Amino acid sequence: MKYEPVIGLEVHVELYTKSKMFCHDSADYFGKDPNTHVCPVCLGLPGALPVPNKQAIEWCIQIGLALNCQIPLLSKFDRKNYFYPDLPKGYQISQYDKPFCIDGSITLKNGKKIAILRAHMEEDTAKLTHSIIDGSSVSLIDFNRSGVPLVEVVTKPDFTSAQEVVDYLKKLQQIVRYLGVSSADMEKGDMRLEPNISLRKLGDKTLPLYKVEVKNINSFKFVEKSIEYEVKRQQEILESGEIPAQETRGWNELKQKTVSQRSKEEAHDYRYFPEPDIPPIRWTKTQLDKFRRALPELPTVKLKRFQSQYFLSEYDSEILTRDRQTADFFEEAVKAAKEVDLSAKQVANVIINTKPNLSSTLPATFIKSLITALPRNTMSNQDLKKLIGQIIVGNTKIVADYKSGNKNAIQALLGKAMAKTQGKIDPKKAKTILEELLN
Ligand code: MN
Repeated sequence: MKYEPVIGLEVHVELYTKSKMFCHDSADYFGKDPNTHVCPVCLGLPGALPVPNKQAIEWCIQIGLALNCQIPLLSKFDRKNYFYPDLPKGYQISQYDKPFCIDGSITLKNGKKIAILRAHMEEDTAKLTHSIIDGSSVSLIDFNRSGVPLVEVVTKPDFTSAQEVVDYLKKLQQIVRYLGVSSADMEKGDMRLEPNISLRKLGDKTLPLYKVEVKNINSFKFVEKSIEYEVKRQQEILESGEIPAQETRGWNELKQKTVSQRSKEEAHDYRYFPEPDIPPIRWTKTQLDKFRRALPELPTVKLKRFQSQYFLSEYDSEILTRDRQTADFFEEAVKAAKEVDLSAKQVANVIINTKPNLSSTLPATFIKSLITALPRNTMSNQDLKKLIGQIIVGNTKIVADYKSGNKNAIQALLGKAMAKTQGKIDPKKAKTILEELLN
């Protein structure tokens, strides 16, 4: 019997706002002395009242928009009730049936669209440390993280492999970094992943009757390993004629396996109800339009633009747009490079190959340092004409397209000429010659 994995994903992204979600304490707690970023609100003391962080909510909406979500005009906070020592109030302020963002998607490298059910806002819990002090085992609680804003992004169970999950996570990480709302460092716990995994018979369309959620995953590598481990484990159980238990498991890196933690709870176990201390939030269309306009250019759009504007390959554009800092540096460097007759392709090559230190080098200085080191546009007009002639002869389809009225087709021809010479020609000159020869 052949089985197919059915995988969904919940990701918690910690926002780097100045203050926490519902109080004034600094949210920048990483590496700080325990219990120094605390107040009555995030310690859950009786009578303390939450005040929502406007910046955090706006960033949650931005994440939703960048993930192609709908933003309902009415939203509210709810209490998710459960007992655990890291949750002093006995409930977490989260969102239940009216989240800020719904129905989005991320498109993977392989073209597959992963549906995003929702992106909602909630508060983080305190951090528990289990250790042995003077021979007895103790659990210590650090409340610095309590109340730090989180955005939880939940997908449909659309993944069928660990590879797809990792690809999705990299895209999500890239998007929140582009937005500048989270550092999304996995090692620091800024991005926490919980895949839920089950198997169904190949060809089945319905969802399996059970699912296994894996917690405590803090790297792309571990998510991959834990999914692969679960697929194998569940397959063996199914093949023996049993059904795997619905449960929450944890990834144990030392043992290289998942271990059972507790039976999986259902939504009704949490007794969700509306948070009485925070009124519902209503957006106007004007406010949402403003958020939409404030979005920066996102990675997929930038990637396409780099290919068409600078005649770069998809590969080069992908490397240069991986983070905003590199992309901005490249574009500034191209501007500076124009004056000294270096092409965008040359600039791209050097940035990709030499990986300059972006925070200590200015693009213009970087370009100056290149002038002596790089081959210049040495091709004579005659050679350039000859080369363009060859491109025209070799690309009859594009030429026909151009002659039938699609003037943009000339960019494709120019791209071919740039690629053929590895960018060592002047695109302006080449374009003029192309136009001459084609008209
Ligand atoms: Mn959550």
